[in-house]
Amino acid sequence: MSYITTADEKGLKRLISAFISPPTYDFWSRQLGSTHAWSRCYARVIARRAESSNTFTLRLAPNGNIGRFAPGQHVNLTTEIGGRRVTRSYSFSNAPNDDGWVEITVRHDPSGLMSNWLFDNADKGTVLELEKVFGAMTSDTFSELPLLLLAGGSGITPLMSLLREQASLGMPRRVTLVYWERNDTSFCFTQDLQAIAERFDNFAVHTIATMENESRRISTAQLTSLGVDTAGVTVLACGSSAFVDRARLCTAEAAASFQSEAFTARPFAVADEAPRNFTVKLLSSNRSIEVSNQESLLTALERQGIVVQSGCRMGVCNTCSCKKVTGSTWNAESAETDSNTNSSVRLCITRATSDLTLAI
Ligand SMILES: Cc1cc2nc3c(=O)[nH]c(=O)nc-3n(C[C@H](O)[C@H](O)[C@H](O)COP(=O)(O)OP(=O)(O)OC[C@H]3O[C@@H](n4cnc5c(N)ncnc54)[C@H](O)[C@@H]3O)c2cc1C
Repeated sequence: MSYITTADEKGLKRLISAFISPPTYDFWSRQLGSTHAWSRCYARVIARRAESSNTFTLRLAPNGNIGRFAPGQHVNLTTEIGGRRVTRSYSFSNAPNDDGWVEITVRHDPSGLMSNWLFDNADKGTVLELEKVFGAMTSDTFSELPLLLLAGGSGITPLMSLLREQASLGMPRRVTLVYWERNDTSFCFTQDLQAIAERFDNFAVHTIATMENESRRISTAQLTSLGVDTAGVTVLACGSSAFVDRARLCTAEAAASFQSEAFTARPFAVADEAPRNFTVKLLSSNRSIEVSNQESLLTALERQGIVVQSGCRMGVCNTCSCKKVTGSTWNAESAETDSNTNSSVRLCITRATSDLTLAI
């Protein structure tokens, strides 16, 4: 069954482009209940299943504008919640296929905006908006080095995609997955993991329920006691920022390479300098506000009631990118100052180091 009909869609667009503009095309397409769009990507939920006590998988049929993804990559998902467009990133949990569907696996946080909305509302027929696929935590399919996958909680999702791809290729390299969850009922993909372990001798999986017990969290001693060899392997680690930091400490030195992706933000790096306030002029709203050099521009704007589109709050998803017309800023991720005019800044990881003009 094929859901992505890129060729059909392209042909249709060429035919009607003389009579209709892209926004009108999108409008009528949505009015008619279709997911077709000129360049935006809309995806319809075609199935939903529970994955654990607090996690569920949505199978989506996107239109032809999404493009292909590599295992380990993610996508920004947007929907309207309470009259506001909300964006969050979700990793693909399936292996790429030619059938046109993709899957995301969402951990339900009852106090979270998007995951709670998806839990309550996303079911067969729901249409969601996706953006371009991105993410660098992918693995070289042709490498022969053993893979060590370290998953903390919902960080299992991109690693499951990578593992499923390896399984579909016949498990050409040795793969070890170590997977931590808070408790026994939170483990996802348990049947699939067991089935893959039964099929392939060179795949091993270790699951650890931490039960809030410090001694069960990732450590070098724990990996050694499990018989996990970190020497010369390719490590891919995903989970909270605290988890990936510990995973790096435990493995990066012995491993051939270490890649990671954090699903949660690190605390924002405050300025070494003395606290200072700067004036930020907001061009679109014709307002000026005072911000401190000790916090991110995103936090400063939000605290003053200015609603800005944001997503991951850690510089990954680009949702809060905006144009800095004048002034200088400091990027907490690259630890670099940007004094250029008309440059793009991600508000969540940027703080002011002078008065600024922003195109928002
Ligand atoms: C690259 C990437 C890939 C990801 N992939 C996945 C995935 O595959 N599966 C998955 O489940 N998640 C994934 N995530 C995480 C996901 O993007 C969301 O962050 C997650 O679903 C929570 O979003 P939310 O809107 O439900 O919660 P949010 O509304 O963002 O809130 C998160 C938590 O913060 C608390 N909070 C919110 N605002 C405040 C405040 N002002 N003060 C104090 N506390 C507050 C909330 O109570 C909640 O507990 C990924 C993240 C990234 C960056």
